[in-house]
Amino acid sequence: MNKIILCKYGEIALKGLNKKNFEILLEKNVKRRLKKYDCKYSRAQSTLYIEPTNPDEVDEIVERVSKVFGIAKIAKAAAFDKDFDTLCHDAIEYLSDELEDVRSFKVQAKRADKQYPLKSPEIACELGGRILEKFPHLTVDVKNPQLVVNVEIREKHAFVHGGKIDGAGGIPVGSSGNSMLLLSGGIDSPVAGVMMAKRGVVISAIHFEAPPYTSERARLKVEKLASLMTEYCGDIKFFCVPFTKLQELLRDNCPEELFTIIMRRLMLEIAQRICKKEGICSLITGESIGQVASQTMYACVCTDAVCNIPVFRPVIGMDKSEIVEISRKINTFETSIEPYEDCCTVFTPKHPKTKPILEEVEKAQAGFDFEPFIEEAVEQTQIKIIRRKD
Ligand code: ATP
Ligand code: MG
Repeated sequence: MNKIILCKYGEIALKGLNKKNFEILLEKNVKRRLKKYDCKYSRAQSTLYIEPTNPDEVDEIVERVSKVFGIAKIAKAAAFDKDFDTLCHDAIEYLSDELEDVRSFKVQAKRADKQYPLKSPEIACELGGRILEKFPHLTVDVKNPQLVVNVEIREKHAFVHGGKIDGAGGIPVGSSGNSMLLLSGGIDSPVAGVMMAKRGVVISAIHFEAPPYTSERARLKVEKLASLMTEYCGDIKFFCVPFTKLQELLRDNCPEELFTIIMRRLMLEIAQRICKKEGICSLITGESIGQVASQTMYACVCTDAVCNIPVFRPVIGMDKSEIVEISRKINTFETSIEPYEDCCTVFTPKHPKTKPILEEVEKAQAGFDFEPFIEEAVEQTQIKIIRRKD
């Protein structure tokens, strides 16, 4: 039996003149994701059709496609002979488990082959009748059925499918510019990055490390998080900044209570300089307002004052439990909770200022010339590409 996978677009279907470009990008992203499989692709009516040469690979392909942004729903369909009696028999057999499990259904028919002897409503009515004969516990409910039996009469075959599963939603990665994610080893920043990828943004990541205060294993953990994110984001350009010297200078030259806020300003300053070099136009952090003492509105005012590009904080209004839920879904949670130190926790003040005042922070920071050390950190940043596996 031939199998085909139907990928229904989400928001792309609503795009006006740009729709074509979104569709082309989505197909490119899907093909890249499935490059190890031999498949045929076609597009029609806000759907991308994927026909694998080997029908046994359908489940693996669906698993992969379910992580591609831009697809709202996925259905696994079977291709049958178009002769109507044979088709009804095969369709009923193919969907018998699903029909057994529900109480109401409807048949929805579509004809791409306009020469087919039955019209769509006739197909729906006739097949519906035969289903009722075979499964007398069912009723037809056209408004709110538990199962929709879909039949599509195409050129060579008729496709039949039952329930749809959820796709990843969003719009295709590559349709909304690029951004640099400040990636720590925690729970929040990987979630923030994937949320922006869902809106079509190409993600690069920057990590600040402070050896020997932070270990090699802490960095490997962050690289692993980036690697897990590639399932959704595609390949990630990864920047690792040596931050020890700046942190030590900061400890020795600035008031302790302002350590965290100035450190964050230095991080953003370095990140935006690298963005400029790389042609990246915005930043992303995993901050959530009020989550910890350093993530207050006042702190945002002080950090954003050093930035001349936008800083996006997609989890800003979310509770920790909501962020955790997404991190489990995208499979980063278990890695995020591995206990390695982050440079942010090195030299943390006992009482950080929760209401830092910008003028005060600027004055404290101006007491020492960080500039040459910022430049040095930018120059010594290591770059590598973290690739999605196969
Ligand atoms: P996360 O769970 O993402 O680590 P968090 O709740 O631990 O966040 P902070 O440690 O205050 O919060 O960091 C806030 C944000 O700053 C992070 O979400 C991340 O975007 C950025 N950040 C923190 N530490 C680093 C780091 N070492 N390298 C790069 N970015 C960092
Ligand atoms: Mg953290």
